[in-house]
Parts: sequence; structure tokens; C-alpha cells
Amino acid sequence: MINIALFGPPGAGKGTQADLLVKKYNLFHISTGSILRSEIEEETPLGLEAKKTIERGDLVSDEMIVRIIEKTIRSNPNVKGYLFDGFPRTYVQAYILEGIMTRFNKKLCCLISLEISEDVSAKRLLERGRTSGRSDDSEEVIRKRLREYNDKTLPVIEYYQKINRYFPVNGEDSIENIHSQITAIIDKQML
Ligand code: AMP
Repeated sequence: MINIALFGPPGAGKGTQADLLVKKYNLFHISTGSILRSEIEEETPLGLEAKKTIERGDLVSDEMIVRIIEKTIRSNPNVKGYLFDGFPRTYVQAYILEGIMTRFNKKLCCLISLEISEDVSAKRLLERGRTSGRSDDSEEVIRKRLREYNDKTLPVIEYYQKINRYFPVNGEDSIENIHSQITAIIDKQML
């Protein structure tokens, strides 16, 4: 059992790397962004509550995210491990995740951080916006998402640095090179 969090600004390539890791290690993928988008599509009460916030480029409340994570773990208890993608995204979420893991008798081994510059992030998101159909991939909302990342999400790094579970990777490298850097980190943790 190995539990991993993939971290990085929007457009860092978390989704691409998550797909590769899920296949290689047979992990259960928990992408809070995808879960929220499905809730919006299905017009559930949670989706309706989150819709406006996401469209503005703000982060949804920690409370809502924690509810999603707990529910997903509880509904999928017998898996080889979890791959968190886009979570934790605030210091409070990082703190709460430790509690959740302990409660479920599990441990997060590492926060793997895909590091890219703000310019690359903005450029990739604008490109993706042309084809993704995501309402939050417009220029104004992208700027807001990057501000949210700098203000609220970056401090998460400090949390994991302090407990020696922060592993940075150059997210501007090729998909294959990034994948092999990540697998080297994970394989070492599994020894
Ligand atoms: P993503 O697909 O990960 O870029 O997420 C899309 C949007 O969903 C974000 O801009 C946030 O509004 C919301 N979101 C996803 N994950 C989180 C999280 N862990 N905490 C707060 N908001 C989140």
C-alpha cells in the first residue's frame, strides 16, 4: 500500500502523470477537480454549491473538499493505494489529510511536486482552454487560479518539507522523463 499526492500549479501535468502512475502502481485515483466537475454536470447539491466558485477561479471550501475525500475513501477501502491529484491544496487540507490517513490507518508517503514557472503554467492553460471546453480555462480565470495557487496552495510545500515528505520534480521536462523521475522516488519509498 502506497499513498501519494501529486502537487503543482494548474497546467503542471498532474493529470497526465496521474494516469501513468495509476496504471503502473495500480492506484486508486482521486482527483478533487474531476469529482467536482462530475458533481456540477450531474447538478447535485454539492455541484451547485461549487459551480460559481470554480467558475470564478477560487478554491472551494476546505470543508467541502474534506467531505469529498472522506466519502471517496470510505466508498473505496480495499485498494492498493490512493493517488491524490489536486489535493491537498491548502495548509489546512494538508493538516486534515494527516488526520484522515491516521483514522483510516494509512499514511501518505510523499508529496510529489511538479514544478513549473508561472509563465509556462499560464501558457499551457491558455492552450488547453482552446480545446478543453473547461469554463475555468479562460484568461481572466486562469490569472485568478494562479493567484489562488500562489497565496493558498504554495504554503502546502512547507508542511511536507518539515516532515521530509516533499519531493520536487522538474515539470518542464518531457512527459517520459518526468514519469521516470517520479517512479524513481516512489520505488525508493517502497523499499
Ligand atoms: P483542478 O481540475 O484540479 O484544476 O480543479 C479545478 C477547480 O476545482 C479548482 O480551480 C478549484 O476551484 C476546485 N478544486 C479542486 N480541487 C480543490 C481542492 N483540493 N481545494 C479547493 N478547491 C479545489
